[in-house]
Parts: sequence; C-alpha cells; structure tokens
Amino acid sequence: KKVVIVGGVAGGASAAARLRRLDEQAEIILLERDEHISFANCGLPYYIGETIRERDKLLVQTPEAMRARFAIDVRVNSEVTAIEPEKKMIRINSRDRGCYEESYDVLLLSPGAQPVRPPIPGIDSPRIFTLRNIPDTDRIKAMVDRENTQRVAVIGGGFIGVEMAENLRERGLAVTLVEAAPHILPPFDSDMALLIERELQDHGVTVHVGDGVAHFAEQAEGMLVTLQSGRQIVADMVVLAIGVAPATGFLKDSGIALGKRGHILVDEHMATNQTDIYAVGDAVEVVDLVTGQPAAVPLAGPANKQGRIAADNIAGIPSAYKGTQGTAILKVFDLTAAATGNNERSLARLQVPYQAIYVHPNSHASYYPDALQLTIKLLFGNDGKILGAQAVGPESIDKHIDVLATAIRLNGTVQDLTELELSYAPPYSSAKDPVNMAGFVAE
Ligand code: FAD
Repeated sequence: KKVVIVGGVAGGASAAARLRRLDEQAEIILLERDEHISFANCGLPYYIGETIRERDKLLVQTPEAMRARFAIDVRVNSEVTAIEPEKKMIRINSRDRGCYEESYDVLLLSPGAQPVRPPIPGIDSPRIFTLRNIPDTDRIKAMVDRENTQRVAVIGGGFIGVEMAENLRERGLAVTLVEAAPHILPPFDSDMALLIERELQDHGVTVHVGDGVAHFAEQAEGMLVTLQSGRQIVADMVVLAIGVAPATGFLKDSGIALGKRGHILVDEHMATNQTDIYAVGDAVEVVDLVTGQPAAVPLAGPANKQGRIAADNIAGIPSAYKGTQGTAILKVFDLTAAATGNNERSLARLQVPYQAIYVHPNSHASYYPDALQLTIKLLFGNDGKILGAQAVGPESIDKHIDVLATAIRLNGTVQDLTELELSYAPPYSSAKDPVNMAGFVAE
C-alpha cells in the first residue's frame, strides 16, 4: 500500500509514525512544503522569549531521523498543488525536483492552518510579523534581538497573541496588546478574561480591548498603528495574531468537500467525501463534543489524536473520533488560565439552557503555607450535565481543568463531581477538592 501524507508537523507526523507501527510494509511518503517537519509549534513563543534557549530543541524530529527511524520517504520543500481523486494522483512543486506527479493508494491531508492577514491598509509592511513556523520564529527573534527594537504592538488577544505579549515583555520590550472584541481570549467569558487582562496590565503590558486596527503606516519614528477609535500606537514591530484560516486553497478543484470557511469536511473516521482520502488537524471541521455542532478548533491535542485515528483506519483498524471539546491552557506571568467545553457566549448563541456557578477555593489546605486563591467557573445544563468550565489562578489550574475535562468527556454531571475521590494531602489540595466544591455548589 502506498500512503501519501500532506503536511509533516502535528497531525501528519503522528499519522506517519502510527502507520509505520501498524504496517511495516506500507510505502509512506511525507510531503512538507517547508524545510522542517515535526517541530514544536507550541514552543515557538517561548523560544522568542528565551525560556527555551536552544533552537534545536524546537526540532522534535528531523527529516533524516524520520527516514532512519521509521523508513518514511520524507520530502521537504515539497508543496502539493493539486489533487485528482479520480486518477489517484497528486501534483507536487518541489524546490529540488521541480514539478512532478505522484500516485497514491491512500492520501492523508494534514495541511494545518495559516495566520489570517486581512486587507488592512499598510499590512504588507516588513515590520508586521505573523507566527506559525520556524522561519517566522527566526524572523521575529532576529527583529526582537535588534537593539533598536523596543516597542511592540501585538494585534489579537487569542492564545498566541497573549503568549507573545508575555514573552516579549519578558524580553524587556514595551508591549501593547490590541483586541477588537470586548475582551481577550475568546474561549473564556468576559468575567474570567478580565482576570487575565489585569495580570497582563500588572506586568506592564498595555491592553486595549474593543478596538480593532484601522490602518498601519510606516513613519520615520516607527510603525504607526491607528485603531478604530482613533487611538494611535507607535511600535518598532507588530505581531499580528488575529486567528488562522485552514490551508486548503490547493484543494479548490479537487472535489473534496469543504465547509463554509474552507475546512475539510470529514466523517468520524476522518475520511473525506472522496474515496481513500483522509484529513486531520487544524484544516478539518470537527463536531463539538458537548453540543454536537460543527466546530473548528485549532489545537495540537486534537490534531495528534486525529492523525492516530486516521492511521488506524488506513491500516484497517476501525477507529472513530468523537469530537473536540476545546480544552486549552495558557500561562500569563504568574497566573494560569484554562478552559474546557463551552462558554456562556457559545451556549447562549446555540440557545442551550445552562446555569453558571463560581467557586473561589484555596489551591491547597489554607493552614499549609502559601495557599493561594483560585477562581473556577462551572457551566451545566438543567439536567446537571457539565457543559463547560474555566479556571484562573496561580497554581494547580491544569489539574482541576483536566479533571473537569475528563468528566465532560465521560458525559459527567455535577453530581459526579461531588463523588470524585481526588488526591489530597495539605500541600496539594483540600479534603473537599476544588472540583468537589464546584459540584457541591452546583448540585
Ligand atoms: P501543522 O502542525 O501546522 O502542520 C501542517 C503542515 O502542513 C505545515 O508545516 C505546512 O507547511 C504543511 N502544508 C500546508 N499545506 C501544504 C501543501 N499544500 N503541501 C505540503 N505541505 C503543506 N496548540 C495547543 O494545543 N497548545 C498550544 O500551546 C499551542 N501553541 C501554539 C503556538 C503557536 C505559535 C502556534 C502557531 C500554534 C500553537 N498551537 C497550540 C496549535 C497547534 O500547533 C496546531 O493545532 C497543530 O500544529 C495543528 O496540526 P496540523 O497538523 O493540523 O497543522
């Protein structure tokens, strides 16, 4: 069997490795348009911030290692430009080999997403950067490393924007974060996002919400960023992080069904509408695990799991993806913020009836030193089914949100939360764990 994989990072590389484990005989070709495969996308902001000091550490797997370890025919600098499902043929534009065609028995697409660059006047300035891959990272880091780079405007308060704001501040830059929506971090509700905005401000980041960019203009003293309100910011560089769009332009004439915003439509086996073509990762539309509605959730965990599931199905092992719940976490200076499932805004939009409760427990027994206050918000239906959760605090947030994420995945109710038996000793938690407490208040 000849399996061709398009995209060599999160979804593509996990699918390739899994497939090799399941099938020693298959011919596996991995095509990647960039120079690198299997790099740590999620680590890029921390390399720019110099928490991760060695660039090599970002390169989880090199083409050579992937070839040697898994006997995979890795071809970098190779962009797939067209697919012809009826001929089972793809067209490739390779830096080294020029244009050529390659046949496949099974095709797996994991092309990911790319940063959105709307047609705002002045957006093509070389002082405006987006972050997705290693070359982007090198460009941003080179600019940050220049002595005369002192002021940066980060446009977009999503996860990448906030991580960049933190890391650039840690590098000593004057950072302004601009968000067009009424609050930063769309997976959170405004009450929880406010805690993060305050943490950013307490660490010297200027935050403007509810104010999008009107235009950019290069001036002698730097980049002039004019917001819709008329407010002006002068910056030496701009990091644009206002979201991503699926990198599916090359599928336009392929007959592969795409959703309204260009995401590849797949069934629970990660199969597209075309025979023997699978797709995974940021480029696909998934089902929201909680509401059953279509969703696009560009996160590494789902991409990896979907890659594994697609590989199982290609190898003849029936395997289904049940949906994405959007569990995500973020460090913001001394706080952690995490969320899973739906928030109030999405539930209201879908007209799902819900109730919300808050608890403010200590991170561990209050009589043991250094207990710190947490905020946990729980959303649940009238039948007690857990619909979503958000948590912000200085420690143990990952633990609590992961317990809640597990409860959601297992279709849990607020009653289940009261019954969970969770680990406790004074340095770690309380006999009534914060998640138990949320259950008690909600019940
Ligand atoms: P990718 O990993 O992007 O891989 C797609 C690859 O396909 C790319 O290398 C691309 O060059 C290649 N490609 C595209 N089109 C073609 C073509 N036509 N021919 C050949 N190759 C092609 N997620 C988290 O869960 N937690 C985090 O903390 C987190 N942090 C992040 C920080 C940053 C800065 C970024 C950019 C992303 C972060 N993510 C995080 C998101 C996560 O990286 C993605 O969800 C994940 O990488 C998606 O996997 P994928 O395989 O769909 O796409």
